[in-house]
Amino acid sequence: MELLEKRIREEGKVLPGDILKVDGFLNHRIDPMLLDALGREFARLYKDSGVTKILTVEASGIAVAVMAGLHLGVPVLFAKKHRTANLSHDVYAADVFSFTHKTTYSIAVAKAYLTDMDRVLIIDDFLANGAAIRGLSSLVSQAGASLAGAGIAVEKGYQGGGDALRGEGMRIESLAVIESMDSSTGEIRFRR
Ligand code: 5GP
Repeated sequence: MELLEKRIREEGKVLPGDILKVDGFLNHRIDPMLLDALGREFARLYKDSGVTKILTVEASGIAVAVMAGLHLGVPVLFAKKHRTANLSHDVYAADVFSFTHKTTYSIAVAKAYLTDMDRVLIIDDFLANGAAIRGLSSLVSQAGASLAGAGIAVEKGYQGGGDALRGEGMRIESLAVIESMDSSTGEIRFRR
């Protein structure tokens, strides 16, 4: 999506350790007009998929997910993060290894809000190695819900998580896919 690539080119900062910082418009300060456009695009891509619910993970997935939910006209559920696995039995839970923090945390959603009647679209701000999507997808399976696919704002394609999931049959739609980035020059190349 040209609009998103342009913002990444203009404002994104490549940090050592394969981190792209986009906190000026995506996940700290938020540009609602840009996110509205992202939500509209996810809705266009998934409009015929029978989606009944959006699922994301706190905190940075929420803004994008809400915009997608608004344009698809469906509720948005965000998984909560816990430092320990001390969770109640009223939740579906999964462990996720955090690419940015290099630790494992648990994510959980209340069983009451995700059921076998749901067809779920997973939304997140970033896709790197795919751990967050795999954790969210596990919550969907535990609930007996079906998965329409995933919508990602920025996929770091060279990390391979997205292509591995596609290879397993999951539909993944990423609005910007980074082919390579270099923290010494700041250069960012997109997949075409
Ligand atoms: P994965 O689980 O696919 O390895 O990583 C995805 C998660 O890690 C996303 O939910 C996102 O919060 C975080 N993440 C991964 N790479 C980046 C990055 O380059 N920049 C930022 N801001 N977050 C990232």
